Amino acid sequence: MTSLSKICLHWTAGANIPCKVDIEAYHFCIDKFGRIYKGNHKPEDNLNCQDGNYAKHCGGGNTGCIGISVCGMAGFDLKNKKTNYPLTQNQIEAMVCLVGYLSNYYGIPINEKSVFTHFEFDQKQRKRQGKIDITYLHYLPTLSIDEVGSYFRTKANWYKQKIKEGKYKFEKKGDFYEFDYID
Ligand SMILES: [Zn+2]
Repeated sequence: MTSLSKICLHWTAGANIPCKVDIEAYHFCIDKFGRIYKGNHKPEDNLNCQDGNYAKHCGGGNTGCIGISVCGMAGFDLKNKKTNYPLTQNQIEAMVCLVGYLSNYYGIPINEKSVFTHFEFDQKQRKRQGKIDITYLHYLPTLSIDEVGSYFRTKANWYKQKIKEGKYKFEKKGDFYEFDYID
């Protein structure tokens, strides 16, 4: 594969900050404050998934696919919806802004074929793995399972345009990155 063509969105099912396993599994991890941490693997490592040196975030779909994960949702299931680490609005905003940034940077269009949640990816497989990331936001409980992906794509498109206009800048802040709003 010669170019990155997809972005898959996950939650870690862990705490609200990235752990070592998360940093190895995803290209980008986002904590509860919206701070973005780069993983051990560059997105380009996923152009070739034959050599073992790539982020293994989306079984059956890793090639050419960038993995972003929001940290949290340990112990969550769709029935009781309980977790000590619900996703925050700050981290979801950072995630969709990052999608807009990467869409511009790599020329990845934002539509359901190229930007999707792990849940949406899984739904299209013949052998489903029962993935539920990302299907629920505690701060937007009225959003249904099937609406979350398109909600993200709509927001990512909005940020993509703002980034083109120079309104958000991806800035390094020590060991993490943040988007700064430029007025
Ligand atoms: Zn996942």
